[in-house]
This record gives sequence, structure tokens and C-alpha cells, in this order.
Amino acid sequence: MEKQWHSKKVLVLGAAKSGIAAATYLHHAGADVTINTGNIPPEDEQDKIQALGIRSVFNEHPVGLLNETEVIVKNPGIPYQIPLLQEAISREIPIYTEVELAYLATEADFVAITGSNGKTTTTTLVYELLKGGKRPVHLAGNIGFPSIEVAADAKTDDLIVIELSSFQLMGVESFHPRSAALLNLSEAHLDYHGDFDSYADAKGNLFRQMTRDDQIVVKLTDSEVMKRVPTHLAPNTFSFERGDASVVDGWVTVRGERVIRVNELALGGAHNVENVLAALLLVEPFDIPKAHIERVLRNFGGVAHRTESLGDVLGRAVYNDSKATNNVAAEAALRGFDAPVVWLCGGLERGADLSSLVPALSNVKAVVAYGETKERFKELGESQKIPSFTVETLTDAVALAFEQSETGDIILLSPACASWDQFKTFEERGEHFIHLVRAYEEANR
Ligand code: ADP
Repeated sequence: MEKQWHSKKVLVLGAAKSGIAAATYLHHAGADVTINTGNIPPEDEQDKIQALGIRSVFNEHPVGLLNETEVIVKNPGIPYQIPLLQEAISREIPIYTEVELAYLATEADFVAITGSNGKTTTTTLVYELLKGGKRPVHLAGNIGFPSIEVAADAKTDDLIVIELSSFQLMGVESFHPRSAALLNLSEAHLDYHGDFDSYADAKGNLFRQMTRDDQIVVKLTDSEVMKRVPTHLAPNTFSFERGDASVVDGWVTVRGERVIRVNELALGGAHNVENVLAALLLVEPFDIPKAHIERVLRNFGGVAHRTESLGDVLGRAVYNDSKATNNVAAEAALRGFDAPVVWLCGGLERGADLSSLVPALSNVKAVVAYGETKERFKELGESQKIPSFTVETLTDAVALAFEQSETGDIILLSPACASWDQFKTFEERGEHFIHLVRAYEEANR
């Protein structure tokens, strides 16, 4: 597999972990590699690049680099609109993401997951389920090691579970997973893709090479998802209400067979039940023992910052859903609970229309909003006659949430906004929330 890169002139766009991993792989495979970034990388990255002994161009994307380029491997975050890529497209130079590179680097089978929401949860769950099978399994991409590193080390019989964004799927051509799911589609990243259809079509790229022998998993009740299934393929469907995997009489079922009661799942919320249904279909081809499946479903409580339970805190069930950076994610979290919810929300202002959240507010007993968007969330709550408050910071929000709640209530941080007005990342926001909750508990015991 490596042979195809020998003497190829490859331009790697973007450094960071995955760009450097791609450049390293290609360099060792005998390619003539140049790495190019639009900024000046941190010193540790520069050191790694220097140690590789490849050509590097920092702080600009000169179009002249294309004269020496046969293939581009690009970081998914770099938009196609930059002049260098526009020119590459007009010269018909192939532009791949690291996923394509990873696919070409191994004979191992891929299990791939994409969608607007639920990717990380489902990917991690699938990984846990597959660990119970006979084939060695690896986690690649956002939540594991760079996919090219994983692929380069994987053996033919191995399985690689990978979470894919629409950005990554823009740059695949021969990528052909053995089992793949498109979980759901809602408006996201329109600033990058321009319009909903090109975003959704990028997600649909997942299925491009798949055949009827492969396992295609899609959400039956999502018409945008169903539109992206190529007509010659036979999809395996899931949704809470109906499909090959669905919930019947309080049971998670696959093709009519009961797997586990919904209330025995460690994962909370209806949206997570759908992630479970998708995961069960994704692992179907790999003969995972039933006992292992049941054990994982009873114990897998989710990934940090995704409706992550912090347990009982002074009589309240507290959840950290910091990863909910858009309306749809927050909506899913809000709908997932039956008990009264004190909802902590707000963050970076991106001008999103909040009205789609209204139907999800029926269990919300108080809105505590902070950050740039706080006034708009307060108005949203008040429009539904819900007591609503604004505070400056998450610190104040946590204290107020405890004051506004009582025993048996839920306190849910599900911001429906990006964190960048007050935090570096959603992880930092979530960690800070956990710290604040623990400190409040300590002080009020
Ligand atoms: P992603 O990796 O796609 O961002 P995550 O698994 O990290 O998805 O979950 C992010 C947030 O999206 C969660 O905190 C939850 O609020 C919401 N979410 C998770 N699964 C779903 C789903 N199947 N449908 C809608 N929203 C979901």
C-alpha cells in the first residue's frame, strides 16, 4: 500500500497532530513531502517537522507550491475557498483528507460513524461493543490517535472505528467502510459548506463506495438522511419509533429481538437510545456475544461532556452536556428528561434562531442564562412563562441553579452555544462546570 506514495510529490496542508502524522507516514513511505500552514505552528510542532527533515512553508499558502504538487492531503478545517485550493481544484490536483490516506494505508476494515450529533458517543460505544469480538479493534480520529497512525499499525484482521466529520468526508474518494452509519442531519457548519445540501451531501460521501454486502445504518425517520442512501443499497434502519432497530414496549430491540430494557441502559436520554440502536446495527456483522453487549450497555454511561452524569449532588441529578454547542444537541438533551429541569445555557453569539428550542422546554422549570447570548435565552424562557435569569458567568449560574432547584430536580448544563466567548474549548467549559458543582456541594453539605 505504501508503494503508491513512492516519489509522489505531496503537499500536506495544516500541521497539528494529524497533519504531522500524515507527513510522517508519507515521508516514510518515500513521498516527496512539503508541509504548509497558514500560521506559524507552536515550537513543539516546528521541532517535529524539522526532525522529519521535510520541506516546510509557514504563515501563508503560496499558490506557487502547486507547481511541485501531485496530491494534496489537507486538514479538514482548512476551507476550500482559499486561493491555493481553488487553484488546485482548477488544476484537478486530488485533494484528500487524512481519512483517505488512512484507508489506503491498511487492509483492516473500517467501521465509520458520521451525523450532525451523537458521533462521539456512538463511536465510543461501538468501540466498547467491538472489544467483545474476536477481531482486535482500534479507535481512530478525533477521540483516538490520528487515523493514519492507527491505520499504519493495524493488521489485516483488525477493525478500525472512526468518527468522521463532514469536513473529513469532503476529502475521500476510495474510502470504503465495512459498516457505516449516518446518524442524523441538521443544519450545522453552514459557514464552511455554504448551504445545507452541500453539507449533507458531504456526509453522504460515506456511502459512495459501499455495496450491498456492507452494513449501512441510517435513521429511518430522518428524511434528509434517507435521501442520501444510494438507491442500489439495502440500508439497515433505526429510530426510536420504528426500523430494524427500535424501541418496542420499553425494550431496545433489533429485528424484533429484545436486547435490554431502555431503563437498564446506563446512557440517559432518548437521543442516546437512538445512538444505542445505531451502534447495535453497526456491530451486527461482527458476531459480538450477547452477554458482552448487555454488559456494555448496562455500564457505558457516555463520554465526558455529552449528557455526562455527575451523579446525585445535594439531591439534584446533575448533568454536564457542555458538548451541546448547537440548538439540536441541546434540544435532544432537554427532551431526554422527564423530571423538572433547571437549564443552564448560553455562550457565543452566532445569531442562531432559538425558536426551534420551544417544544423542548416543557420540563424546564427555570432558565439560567449566561454568556453573550444570555438575554436571548432569557427572552426564550419568558416567552414560555418559565422563570428566567441572566448572570455574567458560569460560576454565578451554578449557584443560582442550585437555588432554583429542589430535591428530585435535574440541573443540566446544555449551552446550545459554542464556548468561545468565555472558554477556550467546550472541554474547558465542562471541566469548569464540574469543578463548580463539586465546590458548591462541598460548601453546602
Ligand atoms: P458529536 O460527536 O456528533 O458532536 P456527541 O456524541 O459528542 O456528538 O454529542 C454531542 C451532543 O449532541 C450531546 O451532548 C447531546 O446533547 C447531543 N446528542 C447526542 N446524540 C444525539 C442524537 N442521536 N441526536 C441528537 N442529539 C444528540
